[in-house]
Amino acid sequence: MSGEQMTEDWTATVSTCEEAARRWDGQALELRDWAAYQRSRGASASATEAKAALAEAAAESLRLEDRTGTAHCVCCLKPVTVCRKYATGEEQ
Ligand SMILES: [Zn+2]
Repeated sequence: MSGEQMTEDWTATVSTCEEAARRWDGQALELRDWAAYQRSRGASASATEAKAALAEAAAESLRLEDRTGTAHCVCCLKPVTVCRKYATGEEQ
């Protein structure tokens, strides 16, 4: 595949937190649609919904970083300097 055919180049085009957050927004929407399809087929969608929630949290953490200048944890959305998991390496 040539470079011109690729619609997404994750390494070259993301230069701001907002750009990265929009990509996570897109991933979350795709996962929410997939979960709806799974439910419509009578299948469990809980794993897909968990992935969607993680993508939404990733977008939110990037927007918090944009607003505050400090990286925020995806698990709890606290600044990484405050998140106990980052500070101790243990679950909160
Ligand atoms: Zn955390």
